[in-house]
Amino acid sequence: MLPIGEAQKKVLEEIPILGRERIYILEALGRVLAQDVEAVRDVPAADNSAMDGYCVRHEDIVGANSSNPARLKLIGESPAGKPYSGTLESGQAVRIMTGGIIPKGADAVIMLEDTEREGDFIICLNDPGLRAHIRPKGEDVRAGEIVLNQGDVIRPPEVGMLATLGHAYVYVHQRPVVAILSTGDELVDLDEPFTQGKVVCSNTYSLAAQVLDCGAIPLSLGIASDNVDDLRSRLNDGLRADVILTSGGVSVGKYDLVKDTLTEVGMKVKFWKVAMKPGKPLVFGTIGNKPVFGLPGNPTSAMISFEQFVRPALFKMMGRKNLFRSLLDAVLAQDVKVSSGRLHLVRCKLFEKDGVKIAVSTGTQSSGALRSMVMADGLMILPPEKAPFKAGDKIKVQSLHTDSPLSPTSHY
Ligand code: AMP
Ligand code: MG
Repeated sequence: MLPIGEAQKKVLEEIPILGRERIYILEALGRVLAQDVEAVRDVPAADNSAMDGYCVRHEDIVGANSSNPARLKLIGESPAGKPYSGTLESGQAVRIMTGGIIPKGADAVIMLEDTEREGDFIICLNDPGLRAHIRPKGEDVRAGEIVLNQGDVIRPPEVGMLATLGHAYVYVHQRPVVAILSTGDELVDLDEPFTQGKVVCSNTYSLAAQVLDCGAIPLSLGIASDNVDDLRSRLNDGLRADVILTSGGVSVGKYDLVKDTLTEVGMKVKFWKVAMKPGKPLVFGTIGNKPVFGLPGNPTSAMISFEQFVRPALFKMMGRKNLFRSLLDAVLAQDVKVSSGRLHLVRCKLFEKDGVKIAVSTGTQSSGALRSMVMADGLMILPPEKAPFKAGDKIKVQSLHTDSPLSPTSHY
């Protein structure tokens, strides 16, 4: 049985990074830049005012205060979008609004609140200093700078920056299509009658949701019964996808035919069985350069295996740099039994007490139990060689909510 860290490494070694596509910036939210973005102009493009007030020549108001005010002639205005075209001479002021362009000759803005108006004159009651309240040209971004880099995830600020720089379209990495096949004679789909002995096929939906959550595109192949012909035919339907996921049928049961049928349709097995609990019977291989994951059938095993192997793989395909979840330090609230030689991933809630995270098991850890997965904030990472685990022990918890901030390190 392969240790989980080695299995994850073997998976990532086989994962190709997908090519580029050019899309509209709003569609690019959550996608990964496949180009550097260079500023073609300064932002802001010209010196402009950060305040409502008056543009002045600073030398005219040096040292001004309420007992020694400066008096300037108002000669015009420079509202945002309509710059004043003339030049400010000594003894003159121009009314300006926030965002208005600073006219030639001016080198400071005095706030409206620090002035009084007397007909065509303004009285300055304050000296705000040279270049006060002027946002200089290029303060935010200078022409020629690389502002966004290939590999950056596009979040709302990146969308804003692309817009500011005038990019309506941008190159991002393509999204993989991920075929999902559930297997098992006992499974019924949501639109089929549920009778005694049957199990509702939930994996298709939880896995498709995980695929969507990664930003990839699920393609449901339905449910295959436990026979080679049906499996083969449905797997063939999935060959147009970039990634194939199956669930169920990869253990050593009499009807566990998935691994052999995958091999029959061309998969080269890279490994089978990982030293983790839940999730042991996972098989991983490739058809050409297409990764294939034969996930275990138990609903939580399938989801947790997806978290460890498929999610980082999809992120890599989509050009992401940080592939992994955050790893948090926590303290165990209770004793936890580690009953096998495999790495245990225990579903837990996290509470904060005196600045310390406390990890509490979410209850039954059966690999079929979805409830404890629903309640989980994270997965305790409990290596068997460090057992026993007692209340108060320091442990690591893999967050199920947050991604690792920039340092792309695995957990194992
Ligand atoms: P298997 O790995 O095929 O032996 O399945 C292990 C357990 O997971 C069995 O109890 C199955 O009924 C259950 N199971 C397998 N596939 C699914 C699925 N798509 N949705 C829900 N439960 C499943
Ligand atoms: Mg089965």
